[in-house]
Amino acid sequence: MAVVADLRAALLRLVPDESRVSEVESVLDQHAGDLSYHEPHRPDVVVFAESTAEVSAVLAHANAAGVPVVAFGAGTSLEGHVIPLHGGISLDLTRMNAVVAVRPDDLTATVQAGATRSQLAAAAGPHGLWFPVDPGADATLGGMAATNASGTTTVRYGGMRAHVLALEVVLADGRVIRTGTRAVKTSAGYNLTELFVGSEGTLGVITELTLRLHPIPERIIVARAAFPSVEAACRAAAAIIGAGVLVTRCELLDATTIAALNAFKGTSFPESPYLFIELGSELETVRELAEDEGATAFESETDPTARARMWDARHSALMASLALAPGSKAMTTDVAVPLSELAPAIEHARAALDASGLRGGIVGHVGDGNFHLAFLLDPADAESVRRAQALNTSLVEDALARGGTCTGEHGIGYGKLGYLAREHPDLLDLYRGIKELFDPNGILNPGKVVP
Ligand SMILES: Cc1cc2nc3c(=O)[nH]c(=O)nc-3n(C[C@H](O)[C@H](O)[C@H](O)COP(=O)(O)OP(=O)(O)OC[C@H]3O[C@@H](n4cnc5c(N)ncnc54)[C@H](O)[C@@H]3O)c2cc1C
Repeated sequence: MAVVADLRAALLRLVPDESRVSEVESVLDQHAGDLSYHEPHRPDVVVFAESTAEVSAVLAHANAAGVPVVAFGAGTSLEGHVIPLHGGISLDLTRMNAVVAVRPDDLTATVQAGATRSQLAAAAGPHGLWFPVDPGADATLGGMAATNASGTTTVRYGGMRAHVLALEVVLADGRVIRTGTRAVKTSAGYNLTELFVGSEGTLGVITELTLRLHPIPERIIVARAAFPSVEAACRAAAAIIGAGVLVTRCELLDATTIAALNAFKGTSFPESPYLFIELGSELETVRELAEDEGATAFESETDPTARARMWDARHSALMASLALAPGSKAMTTDVAVPLSELAPAIEHARAALDASGLRGGIVGHVGDGNFHLAFLLDPADAESVRRAQALNTSLVEDALARGGTCTGEHGIGYGKLGYLAREHPDLLDLYRGIKELFDPNGILNPGKVVP
Protein backbone atom coordinates (compact mmCIF):
# COMPACT_ATOMS: atom_id res chain seq x y z
CA MET A 1 0.00 0.00 0.00
CA ALA A 2 2.83 2.39 0.88
CA VAL A 3 4.38 1.59 -2.51
CA VAL A 4 1.14 2.49 -4.31
CA ALA A 5 0.84 5.71 -2.29
CA ASP A 6 4.42 6.62 -3.26
CA LEU A 7 3.64 5.87 -6.91
CA ARG A 8 0.56 8.09 -6.83
CA ALA A 9 2.46 10.90 -5.10
CA ALA A 10 5.21 10.71 -7.74
CA LEU A 11 2.64 10.69 -10.57
CA LEU A 12 0.85 13.69 -9.08
CA ARG A 13 4.08 15.67 -9.37
CA LEU A 14 4.06 14.88 -13.13
CA VAL A 15 0.29 15.19 -13.70
CA PRO A 16 -0.74 17.69 -11.03
CA ASP A 17 -4.49 17.03 -11.05
CA GLU A 18 -6.06 14.74 -8.41
CA SER A 19 -8.89 13.75 -10.76
CA ARG A 20 -6.47 12.53 -13.42
CA VAL A 21 -4.38 10.25 -11.18
CA SER A 22 -7.12 8.00 -9.92
CA GLU A 23 -7.38 5.21 -7.40
CA VAL A 24 -11.18 5.36 -7.32
CA GLU A 25 -12.42 1.74 -7.23
CA SER A 26 -14.88 2.09 -10.13
CA VAL A 27 -12.15 3.68 -12.27
CA LEU A 28 -9.71 0.88 -11.43
CA ASP A 29 -12.43 -1.65 -12.34
CA GLN A 30 -13.13 0.04 -15.67
CA HIS A 31 -9.45 -0.43 -16.52
CA ALA A 32 -9.15 -3.97 -15.14
CA GLY A 33 -10.74 -6.08 -17.85
CA ASP A 34 -12.47 -6.36 -21.20
CA LEU A 35 -15.58 -7.98 -22.69
CA SER A 36 -13.84 -11.33 -22.94
CA TYR A 37 -13.72 -14.25 -20.51
CA HIS A 38 -10.18 -13.27 -19.38
CA GLU A 39 -10.01 -12.71 -15.64
CA PRO A 40 -9.77 -9.00 -14.77
CA HIS A 41 -6.87 -7.59 -12.77
CA ARG A 42 -6.82 -4.04 -11.46
CA PRO A 43 -4.08 -1.51 -12.13
CA ASP A 44 -2.71 0.24 -9.04
CA VAL A 45 -3.53 3.63 -10.49
CA VAL A 46 -5.14 5.09 -13.62
CA VAL A 47 -3.55 8.18 -15.20
CA PHE A 48 -5.62 10.21 -17.68
CA ALA A 49 -2.98 11.89 -19.87
CA GLU A 50 -3.75 15.12 -21.68
CA SER A 51 -0.53 15.70 -23.64
CA THR A 52 2.46 13.96 -25.17
CA ALA A 53 4.62 15.68 -22.56
CA GLU A 54 2.61 14.03 -19.77
CA VAL A 55 2.85 10.62 -21.45
CA SER A 56 6.59 11.12 -21.75
CA ALA A 57 6.98 12.14 -18.11
CA VAL A 58 4.89 9.19 -16.86
CA LEU A 59 6.84 6.68 -18.96
CA ALA A 60 10.22 8.08 -17.94
CA HIS A 61 9.23 7.78 -14.28
CA ALA A 62 7.76 4.27 -14.69
CA ASN A 63 10.83 3.10 -16.60
CA ALA A 64 13.18 4.33 -13.89
CA ALA A 65 11.01 2.84 -11.13
CA GLY A 66 10.26 -0.45 -12.94
CA VAL A 67 6.48 0.10 -12.87
CA PRO A 68 4.37 -1.58 -15.60
CA VAL A 69 2.37 0.72 -17.91
CA VAL A 70 -0.61 -0.44 -19.98
CA ALA A 71 -1.88 2.04 -22.58
CA PHE A 72 -5.69 2.18 -22.57
CA GLY A 73 -7.88 3.42 -25.44
CA ALA A 74 -11.56 2.48 -25.52
CA GLY A 75 -10.86 -0.91 -23.90
CA THR A 76 -12.73 -2.81 -26.65
CA SER A 77 -9.97 -5.31 -27.46
CA LEU A 78 -10.87 -8.94 -26.92
CA GLU A 79 -7.79 -10.95 -25.94
CA GLY A 80 -6.98 -9.48 -22.53
CA HIS A 81 -4.82 -6.78 -24.15
CA VAL A 82 -5.62 -4.02 -21.64
CA ILE A 83 -5.58 -6.14 -18.49
CA PRO A 84 -2.74 -4.93 -16.23
CA LEU A 85 -1.59 -8.46 -15.36
CA HIS A 86 1.08 -7.07 -13.01
CA GLY A 87 -0.74 -3.99 -11.73
CA GLY A 88 1.04 -0.66 -12.16
CA ILE A 89 -0.30 2.19 -14.29
CA SER A 90 -3.19 2.07 -16.73
CA LEU A 91 -2.42 5.04 -18.98
CA ASP A 92 -5.75 6.24 -20.37
CA LEU A 93 -5.40 8.18 -23.64
CA THR A 94 -9.05 9.07 -24.18
CA ARG A 95 -8.61 12.74 -23.21
CA MET A 96 -6.07 13.15 -26.02
CA ASN A 97 -8.85 13.07 -28.59
CA ALA A 98 -8.33 16.08 -30.88
CA VAL A 99 -8.64 15.81 -34.64
CA VAL A 100 -5.55 17.93 -35.29
CA ALA A 101 -6.00 18.42 -39.04
CA VAL A 102 -8.03 17.17 -42.00
CA ARG A 103 -6.23 17.79 -45.32
CA PRO A 104 -8.69 17.24 -48.19
CA ASP A 105 -6.05 18.02 -50.82
CA ASP A 106 -3.76 15.29 -49.46
CA LEU A 107 -6.53 12.84 -48.45
CA THR A 108 -4.99 12.63 -44.97
CA ALA A 109 -5.84 13.55 -41.39
CA THR A 110 -3.78 13.85 -38.21
CA VAL A 111 -5.39 12.88 -34.92
CA GLN A 112 -4.39 12.41 -31.31
CA ALA A 113 -4.35 8.78 -30.25
CA GLY A 114 -7.50 8.98 -28.12
CA ALA A 115 -9.71 10.29 -30.95
CA THR A 116 -12.28 7.71 -31.95
CA ARG A 117 -13.29 6.44 -35.35
CA SER A 118 -16.61 8.31 -35.12
CA GLN A 119 -14.86 11.59 -34.15
CA LEU A 120 -12.71 11.32 -37.27
CA ALA A 121 -15.79 10.45 -39.36
CA ALA A 122 -17.53 13.61 -38.10
CA ALA A 123 -14.51 15.77 -38.99
CA ALA A 124 -13.82 14.19 -42.40
CA GLY A 125 -17.45 13.87 -43.58
CA PRO A 126 -18.02 17.58 -44.39
CA HIS A 127 -15.03 17.34 -46.79
CA GLY A 128 -16.65 14.40 -48.62
CA LEU A 129 -14.07 12.07 -47.05
CA TRP A 130 -14.15 9.05 -44.76
CA PHE A 131 -11.84 6.76 -42.84
CA PRO A 132 -13.01 3.27 -43.77
CA VAL A 133 -11.36 1.00 -41.16
CA ASP A 134 -14.34 -0.19 -39.15
CA PRO A 135 -13.95 -2.71 -36.33
CA GLY A 136 -17.55 -2.20 -35.28
CA ALA A 137 -16.77 -0.91 -31.81
CA ASP A 138 -16.18 2.85 -31.55
CA ALA A 139 -12.52 2.28 -30.72
CA THR A 140 -9.79 4.91 -30.44
CA LEU A 141 -7.54 5.34 -33.45
CA GLY A 142 -4.49 4.77 -31.21
CA GLY A 143 -5.97 1.48 -29.99
CA MET A 144 -6.93 0.50 -33.53
CA ALA A 145 -3.38 1.14 -34.72
CA ALA A 146 -1.96 -0.73 -31.72
CA THR A 147 -4.05 -3.82 -32.61
CA ASN A 148 -3.80 -3.41 -36.41
CA ALA A 149 -7.58 -3.42 -36.43
CA SER A 150 -9.55 -4.14 -39.54
CA GLY A 151 -13.16 -5.10 -40.12
CA THR A 152 -16.02 -5.03 -42.55
CA THR A 153 -14.40 -2.76 -45.16
CA THR A 154 -10.96 -4.38 -45.22
CA VAL A 155 -11.83 -6.45 -48.27
CA ARG A 156 -11.85 -3.19 -50.27
CA TYR A 157 -9.60 -0.74 -48.40
CA GLY A 158 -7.23 -2.76 -46.18
CA GLY A 159 -6.79 -2.51 -42.40
CA MET A 160 -4.89 -0.10 -40.16
CA ARG A 161 -1.45 -0.93 -41.60
CA ALA A 162 -2.66 0.28 -44.99
CA HIS A 163 -3.84 3.56 -43.46
CA VAL A 164 -1.21 4.74 -40.98
CA LEU A 165 1.29 7.04 -42.71
CA ALA A 166 3.07 8.49 -39.68
CA LEU A 167 3.13 8.19 -35.91
CA GLU A 168 4.28 10.12 -32.89
CA VAL A 169 5.33 7.55 -30.31
CA VAL A 170 6.66 7.85 -26.75
CA LEU A 171 9.25 5.18 -26.05
CA ALA A 172 9.58 3.33 -22.74
CA ASP A 173 12.23 5.76 -21.46
CA GLY A 174 10.12 8.82 -22.30
CA ARG A 175 11.80 9.75 -25.59
CA VAL A 176 9.37 11.10 -28.20
CA ILE A 177 9.94 9.92 -31.77
CA ARG A 178 8.20 10.45 -35.10
CA THR A 179 8.00 7.72 -37.74
CA GLY A 180 6.88 8.08 -41.38
CA THR A 181 5.84 11.33 -43.07
CA ARG A 182 2.73 12.93 -44.56
CA ALA A 183 3.66 11.56 -47.99
CA VAL A 184 1.64 8.51 -48.99
CA LYS A 185 4.76 6.50 -49.77
CA THR A 186 8.34 6.24 -48.56
CA SER A 187 11.30 3.92 -48.92
CA ALA A 188 13.33 5.61 -46.19
CA GLY A 189 14.87 3.15 -43.77
CA TYR A 190 13.30 0.39 -41.70
CA ASN A 191 9.53 0.66 -41.53
CA LEU A 192 9.04 1.45 -37.84
CA THR A 193 5.55 2.80 -38.50
CA GLU A 194 4.37 -0.67 -39.45
CA LEU A 195 6.27 -2.19 -36.55
CA PHE A 196 4.36 -0.05 -34.03
CA VAL A 197 1.07 -0.85 -35.79
CA GLY A 198 -0.02 -4.11 -34.19
CA SER A 199 2.48 -3.91 -31.30
CA GLU A 200 -0.34 -3.72 -28.71
CA GLY A 201 1.33 -1.16 -26.46
CA THR A 202 4.40 -3.37 -25.92
CA LEU A 203 6.94 -1.22 -27.82
CA GLY A 204 5.80 2.35 -27.20
CA VAL A 205 2.75 4.54 -26.58
CA ILE A 206 1.29 6.15 -29.70
CA THR A 207 0.26 9.76 -29.10
CA GLU A 208 -0.50 11.02 -32.62
CA LEU A 209 -1.30 9.41 -35.98
CA THR A 210 -1.42 10.64 -39.57
CA LEU A 211 -3.95 8.57 -41.49
CA ARG A 212 -5.11 8.13 -45.07
CA LEU A 213 -8.65 9.17 -45.94
CA HIS A 214 -10.80 8.21 -48.95
CA PRO A 215 -13.56 9.97 -50.89
CA ILE A 216 -17.02 8.86 -49.76
CA PRO A 217 -18.31 6.59 -52.58
CA GLU A 218 -21.01 8.25 -54.66
CA ARG A 219 -23.18 5.17 -55.08
CA ILE A 220 -23.63 2.54 -52.40
CA ILE A 221 -25.86 -0.51 -52.74
CA VAL A 222 -26.35 -3.12 -50.04
CA ALA A 223 -27.50 -6.63 -50.79
CA ARG A 224 -28.67 -9.41 -48.48
CA ALA A 225 -28.62 -12.99 -49.64
CA ALA A 226 -29.90 -15.96 -47.60
CA PHE A 227 -28.32 -19.38 -48.16
CA PRO A 228 -29.17 -22.96 -47.26
CA SER A 229 -25.83 -23.40 -45.42
CA VAL A 230 -22.83 -21.38 -44.22
CA GLU A 231 -20.65 -23.35 -46.62
CA ALA A 232 -22.81 -22.26 -49.60
CA ALA A 233 -22.59 -18.65 -48.37
CA CYS A 234 -18.78 -18.95 -48.17
CA ARG A 235 -18.55 -20.43 -51.65
CA ALA A 236 -20.65 -17.52 -52.95
CA ALA A 237 -18.37 -15.01 -51.20
CA ALA A 238 -15.28 -16.62 -52.74
CA ALA A 239 -16.94 -16.59 -56.18
CA ILE A 240 -17.87 -12.90 -55.87
CA ILE A 241 -14.35 -11.89 -54.81
CA GLY A 242 -12.82 -14.23 -57.41
CA ALA A 243 -14.91 -12.59 -60.15
CA GLY A 244 -13.23 -9.29 -59.31
CA VAL A 245 -16.39 -7.53 -58.11
CA LEU A 246 -15.28 -4.47 -56.09
CA VAL A 247 -17.27 -5.15 -52.95
CA THR A 248 -16.80 -2.74 -50.03
CA ARG A 249 -18.02 -5.27 -47.49
CA CYS A 250 -18.85 -8.98 -47.62
CA GLU A 251 -20.04 -10.35 -44.28
CA LEU A 252 -21.27 -13.77 -43.23
CA LEU A 253 -23.77 -14.25 -40.39
CA ASP A 254 -24.89 -17.78 -39.51
CA ALA A 255 -28.46 -18.73 -38.58
CA THR A 256 -27.71 -18.64 -34.82
CA THR A 257 -26.41 -15.08 -35.09
CA ILE A 258 -29.38 -14.00 -37.21
CA ALA A 259 -31.75 -15.42 -34.58
CA ALA A 260 -29.80 -13.63 -31.82
CA LEU A 261 -29.98 -10.34 -33.77
CA ASN A 262 -33.72 -10.70 -34.36
CA ALA A 263 -34.18 -11.05 -30.59
CA PHE A 264 -31.69 -8.29 -29.68
CA LYS A 265 -32.39 -5.65 -32.37
CA GLY A 266 -36.01 -6.43 -33.25
CA THR A 267 -35.14 -7.30 -36.86
CA SER A 268 -37.10 -10.00 -38.66
CA PHE A 269 -34.61 -11.73 -40.96
CA PRO A 270 -35.52 -15.35 -41.81
CA GLU A 271 -33.29 -17.53 -39.63
CA SER A 272 -30.80 -18.86 -42.17
CA PRO A 273 -27.19 -18.05 -43.00
CA TYR A 274 -26.77 -14.69 -44.74
CA LEU A 275 -24.24 -12.71 -46.71
CA PHE A 276 -24.49 -8.93 -46.20
CA ILE A 277 -22.72 -7.28 -49.14
CA GLU A 278 -21.98 -3.63 -49.99
CA LEU A 279 -20.91 -2.53 -53.44
CA GLY A 280 -21.09 0.34 -55.93
CA SER A 281 -21.99 -1.57 -59.10
CA GLU A 282 -22.27 -5.08 -60.58
CA LEU A 283 -25.31 -5.97 -58.49
CA GLU A 284 -26.59 -8.39 -61.15
CA THR A 285 -23.26 -10.28 -61.22
CA VAL A 286 -23.45 -10.66 -57.45
CA ARG A 287 -27.05 -11.86 -57.64
CA GLU A 288 -26.15 -14.48 -60.28
CA LEU A 289 -23.15 -15.76 -58.33
CA ALA A 290 -25.22 -15.95 -55.14
CA GLU A 291 -28.02 -17.80 -56.94
CA ASP A 292 -25.47 -20.21 -58.44
CA GLU A 293 -24.68 -21.22 -54.84
CA GLY A 294 -28.35 -21.68 -54.00
CA ALA A 295 -29.27 -18.28 -52.52
CA THR A 296 -32.87 -18.58 -51.39
CA ALA A 297 -33.56 -14.86 -51.11
CA PHE A 298 -31.77 -11.85 -52.56
CA GLU A 299 -32.72 -8.28 -51.66
CA SER A 300 -30.94 -5.00 -52.32
CA GLU A 301 -31.43 -1.37 -51.33
CA THR A 302 -29.75 2.01 -51.61
CA ASP A 303 -31.64 3.98 -48.97
CA PRO A 304 -29.04 5.32 -46.45
CA THR A 305 -31.26 4.62 -43.42
CA ALA A 306 -31.88 1.02 -44.47
CA ARG A 307 -28.15 0.58 -45.11
CA ALA A 308 -27.23 2.01 -41.72
CA ARG A 309 -29.80 -0.27 -40.03
CA MET A 310 -28.33 -3.33 -41.70
CA TRP A 311 -24.73 -2.55 -40.71
CA ASP A 312 -25.84 -1.56 -37.24
CA ALA A 313 -27.39 -5.04 -36.93
CA ARG A 314 -24.14 -6.63 -38.16
CA HIS A 315 -22.08 -4.64 -35.66
CA SER A 316 -24.35 -5.74 -32.84
CA ALA A 317 -23.64 -9.44 -33.46
CA LEU A 318 -21.36 -9.92 -30.44
CA MET A 319 -23.68 -8.09 -28.05
CA ALA A 320 -26.66 -10.01 -29.45
CA SER A 321 -24.86 -13.32 -28.85
CA LEU A 322 -23.96 -12.28 -25.29
CA ALA A 323 -27.60 -11.42 -24.66
CA LEU A 324 -28.54 -15.06 -25.40
CA ALA A 325 -27.07 -16.01 -22.02
CA PRO A 326 -27.13 -13.00 -19.67
CA GLY A 327 -24.09 -12.92 -17.38
CA SER A 328 -22.02 -15.01 -19.76
CA LYS A 329 -18.70 -13.92 -21.25
CA ALA A 330 -17.50 -14.51 -24.79
CA MET A 331 -14.52 -16.36 -26.08
CA THR A 332 -14.07 -15.15 -29.62
CA THR A 333 -11.98 -16.96 -32.13
CA ASP A 334 -10.64 -14.86 -34.95
CA VAL A 335 -8.89 -17.06 -37.47
CA ALA A 336 -8.16 -16.24 -41.11
CA VAL A 337 -7.48 -18.71 -43.90
CA PRO A 338 -6.79 -18.46 -47.65
CA LEU A 339 -10.09 -17.77 -49.43
CA SER A 340 -10.09 -21.20 -51.10
CA GLU A 341 -10.04 -22.83 -47.62
CA LEU A 342 -12.83 -20.73 -46.15
CA ALA A 343 -15.81 -23.03 -46.77
CA PRO A 344 -14.12 -26.18 -45.37
CA ALA A 345 -12.69 -24.19 -42.42
CA ILE A 346 -16.16 -22.93 -41.51
CA GLU A 347 -17.57 -26.44 -41.95
CA HIS A 348 -14.97 -27.66 -39.46
CA ALA A 349 -15.83 -24.78 -37.09
CA ARG A 350 -19.55 -25.54 -37.19
CA ALA A 351 -18.98 -29.27 -36.52
CA ALA A 352 -16.51 -28.54 -33.68
CA LEU A 353 -18.94 -26.05 -32.11
CA ASP A 354 -21.84 -28.54 -32.28
CA ALA A 355 -19.66 -31.28 -30.77
CA SER A 356 -18.51 -29.01 -27.91
CA GLY A 357 -22.01 -28.52 -26.50
CA LEU A 358 -21.31 -24.77 -26.19
CA ARG A 359 -23.61 -22.04 -27.53
CA GLY A 360 -22.26 -19.68 -30.12
CA GLY A 361 -22.55 -18.18 -33.56
CA ILE A 362 -20.29 -17.68 -36.56
CA VAL A 363 -19.76 -14.33 -38.24
CA GLY A 364 -17.06 -13.44 -40.69
CA HIS A 365 -15.42 -10.85 -42.84
CA VAL A 366 -15.52 -13.64 -45.36
CA GLY A 367 -14.27 -11.54 -48.26
CA ASP A 368 -10.92 -11.67 -46.42
CA GLY A 369 -11.16 -15.34 -45.38
CA ASN A 370 -11.51 -14.12 -41.77
CA PHE A 371 -14.20 -15.46 -39.44
CA HIS A 372 -15.15 -15.32 -35.78
CA LEU A 373 -16.87 -17.82 -33.61
CA ALA A 374 -18.15 -16.26 -30.41
CA PHE A 375 -18.99 -18.91 -27.85
CA LEU A 376 -20.55 -18.16 -24.55
CA LEU A 377 -19.25 -19.40 -21.25
CA ASP A 378 -19.39 -18.80 -17.55
CA PRO A 379 -15.82 -17.87 -16.49
CA ALA A 380 -16.53 -19.34 -13.02
CA ASP A 381 -17.37 -22.75 -14.51
CA ALA A 382 -14.03 -24.51 -15.05
CA GLU A 383 -15.56 -27.20 -17.27
CA SER A 384 -17.12 -24.72 -19.71
CA VAL A 385 -13.81 -22.79 -19.85
CA ARG A 386 -11.93 -26.06 -20.54
CA ARG A 387 -14.32 -27.02 -23.34
CA ALA A 388 -14.12 -23.53 -24.84
CA GLN A 389 -10.32 -23.60 -24.77
CA ALA A 390 -10.30 -27.02 -26.46
CA LEU A 391 -12.65 -25.70 -29.14
CA ASN A 392 -10.52 -22.58 -29.64
CA THR A 393 -7.40 -24.74 -30.02
CA SER A 394 -9.12 -27.01 -32.53
CA LEU A 395 -10.17 -24.03 -34.67
CA VAL A 396 -6.73 -22.42 -34.55
CA GLU A 397 -4.97 -25.68 -35.41
CA ASP A 398 -7.33 -26.22 -38.31
CA ALA A 399 -6.66 -22.68 -39.58
CA LEU A 400 -2.87 -23.13 -39.30
CA ALA A 401 -3.06 -26.48 -41.12
CA ARG A 402 -4.87 -24.70 -43.97
CA GLY A 403 -2.11 -22.08 -44.31
CA GLY A 404 -3.92 -19.49 -42.19
CA THR A 405 -3.31 -17.52 -39.01
CA CYS A 406 -4.48 -17.69 -35.38
CA THR A 407 -5.75 -14.11 -35.56
CA GLY A 408 -6.91 -12.12 -38.56
CA GLU A 409 -7.55 -8.90 -36.66
CA HIS A 410 -8.06 -9.11 -32.88
CA GLY A 411 -4.38 -9.64 -32.10
CA ILE A 412 -2.52 -11.72 -29.55
CA GLY A 413 -3.03 -9.93 -26.21
CA TYR A 414 -2.34 -12.71 -23.80
CA GLY A 415 -5.25 -14.93 -24.86
CA LYS A 416 -3.38 -16.08 -27.95
CA LEU A 417 0.23 -16.13 -26.72
CA GLY A 418 0.45 -19.92 -27.04
CA TYR A 419 -1.04 -19.86 -30.53
CA LEU A 420 1.49 -17.27 -31.74
CA ALA A 421 4.20 -19.65 -30.56
CA ARG A 422 2.59 -22.42 -32.63
CA GLU A 423 2.23 -20.22 -35.69
CA HIS A 424 5.73 -18.75 -35.70
CA PRO A 425 8.02 -20.82 -33.43
CA ASP A 426 11.09 -19.78 -35.42
CA LEU A 427 10.37 -16.05 -34.97
CA LEU A 428 10.10 -15.91 -31.17
CA ASP A 429 13.77 -15.06 -30.59
CA LEU A 430 13.50 -12.15 -33.02
CA TYR A 431 10.32 -10.94 -31.31
CA ARG A 432 12.05 -11.06 -27.93
CA GLY A 433 15.05 -9.16 -29.33
CA ILE A 434 12.78 -6.42 -30.71
CA LYS A 435 10.93 -6.17 -27.39
CA GLU A 436 14.20 -5.88 -25.47
CA LEU A 437 15.52 -3.19 -27.82
CA PHE A 438 12.46 -0.97 -27.38
CA ASP A 439 11.63 -1.81 -23.78
CA PRO A 440 14.72 -3.16 -21.99
CA ASN A 441 13.08 -2.97 -18.55
CA GLY A 442 9.92 -4.73 -19.72
CA ILE A 443 7.53 -2.05 -18.41
CA LEU A 444 5.28 -1.75 -21.49
CA ASN A 445 2.21 -4.00 -21.26
CA PRO A 446 4.19 -6.93 -19.83
CA GLY A 447 2.92 -10.43 -20.52
CA LYS A 448 1.42 -9.55 -23.91
CA VAL A 449 2.32 -10.46 -27.52
CA VAL A 450 5.75 -11.98 -26.84
CA PRO A 451 5.40 -15.42 -25.22
C1 LIG B 1 -18.42 -5.69 -30.49
C2 LIG B 1 -16.99 -5.70 -30.92
C3 LIG B 1 -16.68 -5.97 -32.25
C4 LIG B 1 -15.34 -5.97 -32.67
N1 LIG B 1 -15.08 -6.21 -33.98
C5 LIG B 1 -13.80 -6.08 -34.41
C6 LIG B 1 -13.49 -6.18 -35.80
O1 LIG B 1 -14.36 -6.41 -36.64
N2 LIG B 1 -12.20 -6.00 -36.18
C7 LIG B 1 -11.20 -5.74 -35.29
O2 LIG B 1 -10.06 -5.55 -35.70
N3 LIG B 1 -11.47 -5.66 -33.97
C8 LIG B 1 -12.72 -5.81 -33.53
N4 LIG B 1 -13.00 -5.69 -32.19
C9 LIG B 1 -11.87 -5.47 -31.26
C10 LIG B 1 -11.50 -4.00 -30.94
O3 LIG B 1 -12.54 -3.11 -31.27
C11 LIG B 1 -10.18 -3.63 -31.55
O4 LIG B 1 -9.14 -4.41 -31.04
C12 LIG B 1 -9.82 -2.12 -31.34
O5 LIG B 1 -8.94 -1.83 -32.37
C13 LIG B 1 -9.19 -1.74 -29.99
O6 LIG B 1 -9.18 -0.32 -29.85
P1 LIG B 1 -9.37 0.35 -28.41
O7 LIG B 1 -9.29 1.81 -28.55
O8 LIG B 1 -10.56 -0.19 -27.74
O9 LIG B 1 -8.03 -0.18 -27.72
P2 LIG B 1 -7.86 -0.88 -26.28
O10 LIG B 1 -8.73 -2.06 -26.17
O11 LIG B 1 -8.00 0.18 -25.25
O12 LIG B 1 -6.35 -1.32 -26.39
C14 LIG B 1 -5.98 -2.36 -27.25
C15 LIG B 1 -4.47 -2.60 -27.17
O13 LIG B 1 -3.79 -1.47 -27.71
C16 LIG B 1 -2.97 -0.85 -26.72
N5 LIG B 1 -3.15 0.59 -26.92
C17 LIG B 1 -4.29 1.32 -26.81
N6 LIG B 1 -4.03 2.60 -27.10
C18 LIG B 1 -2.70 2.68 -27.39
C19 LIG B 1 -1.83 3.73 -27.75
N7 LIG B 1 -2.27 4.97 -27.89
N8 LIG B 1 -0.53 3.45 -27.94
C20 LIG B 1 -0.05 2.18 -27.81
N9 LIG B 1 -0.83 1.15 -27.46
C21 LIG B 1 -2.13 1.39 -27.26
C22 LIG B 1 -3.46 -1.35 -25.39
O14 LIG B 1 -2.42 -1.39 -24.43
C23 LIG B 1 -3.93 -2.75 -25.76
O15 LIG B 1 -2.85 -3.64 -25.80
C24 LIG B 1 -14.31 -5.71 -31.74
C25 LIG B 1 -14.63 -5.45 -30.41
C26 LIG B 1 -15.95 -5.45 -29.99
C27 LIG B 1 -16.24 -5.15 -28.57
